[in-house]
Amino acid sequence: MLTEFRNEPVLDYSDPEDVRKFRAALDKVRAEAGQTLPLIIGGEKIYLDETFATVCPARPDEALAHFADGGVEHVDMAVAAAEEAFASWRLTPVGERARLLLRVAALMRDRRHELNALMSLEIGKAWSEADGETSEAIDFLEYYARQMLDLADRSDELTEWPGEQQTLNYIPLGVGAVIPPWNFPLAIGTGLLSATLVAGNTAVYKPAEQSPLLGWKVAEYFLECGLPAGVMNFVTGPGEVVGARMVEHPRTRFICFTGSRDVGVEIYEKAGRVLPGQPWLKRSILEMGGKDAVLVDETARLDQAAEGIVTSAFGYQGQKCSAGSRVIIVDDVYDELVPRILERAKSLRVGAPDEGPDVTVGPVIDPNQFDKVKSYLETGSDEGEVLLGGSPIETEEGGYFIQPTIFGEVPETARIAQEEIFGPVVALVRARDFEDALRIVNSTDYGLTGAVYSEDPGRLSRVRDDFHVGNLYINRKCTGAMVGVQPFGGFNMSGTDSKAGGPDYLTLFTQAKAIAQRL
Ligand code: ADP
Repeated sequence: MLTEFRNEPVLDYSDPEDVRKFRAALDKVRAEAGQTLPLIIGGEKIYLDETFATVCPARPDEALAHFADGGVEHVDMAVAAAEEAFASWRLTPVGERARLLLRVAALMRDRRHELNALMSLEIGKAWSEADGETSEAIDFLEYYARQMLDLADRSDELTEWPGEQQTLNYIPLGVGAVIPPWNFPLAIGTGLLSATLVAGNTAVYKPAEQSPLLGWKVAEYFLECGLPAGVMNFVTGPGEVVGARMVEHPRTRFICFTGSRDVGVEIYEKAGRVLPGQPWLKRSILEMGGKDAVLVDETARLDQAAEGIVTSAFGYQGQKCSAGSRVIIVDDVYDELVPRILERAKSLRVGAPDEGPDVTVGPVIDPNQFDKVKSYLETGSDEGEVLLGGSPIETEEGGYFIQPTIFGEVPETARIAQEEIFGPVVALVRARDFEDALRIVNSTDYGLTGAVYSEDPGRLSRVRDDFHVGNLYINRKCTGAMVGVQPFGGFNMSGTDSKAGGPDYLTLFTQAKAIAQRL
């Protein structure tokens, strides 16, 4: 009997002992840097001559590891291996599959500082944010293990019929394409993979090109904990080659993906096509972007709002799909709130996150993202007033740093108020009143997260109905959803309305089989 699910406590690195452990872990990660790592297909390690490097975005010359530049043929091998392994994995008792997840959770708990240190290097994440991600990965494992035990057999929910015995089992689908993003490579990588495997599916798992080492850790831990060969196949390479083939392979049964809107839409369309040799309709579970809004009305507690706005906008440099990248403020309090936001944003410390726990804003992930954010800085200076930042930061090592940037008086239809930027940039929009603000909030194609700061009970009840997002937060920041507490996933162009870390999630990775037996 398992204990009830509880969220993993997150370290804030205020304890000097934790700081010491983090620094020791950083030394260990650095000492191991530079390895060349293989594909893992059917339990075999496959090294390729063609490789690509994963680097530190604060110092792009610092290569952390080299990965095989896989291609279509490797995906085909991986799908074949996964299909073969499915024959036995699907029949492995659910208790055994759940126990495997719990072992991986224990391992991650044990090695949390090492994972956090690697996160600070490979994806530029601040220490406490990194521990938040590691805790989330642990939570997914603990939560889905329990959820699957509950879901496997729901016969007791059926209506009785005289002379027959009824069974309702949630059985796996088959081979899944597991495609996580770089911004939460550990948490989302673990979440997608553990949901896939605990439900009895097998996987072809491809981490993002910017974060393969964190992706490798997830694969390594599952294997270390006893996952049989071929149940998870690790393939690295370009998303548009390896990922695309995983999606289009006729023997792929489902795709679970988190990433950009464009790629998500492409996957959705491709998954809808039935290919020769494909005897099923593919399922896609997609989590895409957001242009998440924070609404502040004239009744709000303004200091609390300013705090939430800055955390939502600049946590992990704004590179979260839940980031609050537009703030809609009613006219009555706009001028009073703006200085409070600026004051807090000025206290953020930009730097390489491995330097210390006081660095709050690190670099953006790579040259593409750096160029994209820079182009939005130019667009933003035409569209609004630069209140803070507005420029990249030059460093000797060529890191991809951008100043935390705030644009004021941004028109609601401006590009920086409508398009996902994925950087430390926030647009402040002035609304006439609450009704106007609510209309603006709902004026994008997305619907992922949102926050409202207000003390008016009527309005708080109104936003529950009319603020159209998958995750609505009242009088708190719009980031940091916790597994089991706030199931996460959005509406419209934010994805397929699936709720990761929620009680329905695993039904997406299964199909129900109803069996009636005449007595
Ligand atoms: P971002 O723009 O945030 O990097 P992407 O959507 O490009 O997000 O990437 C998310 C994941 O999707 C990554 O693992 C990436 O390799 C993968 N990917 C990229 N292009 C494709 C594609 N055409 N088909 C399938 N997966 C892809």
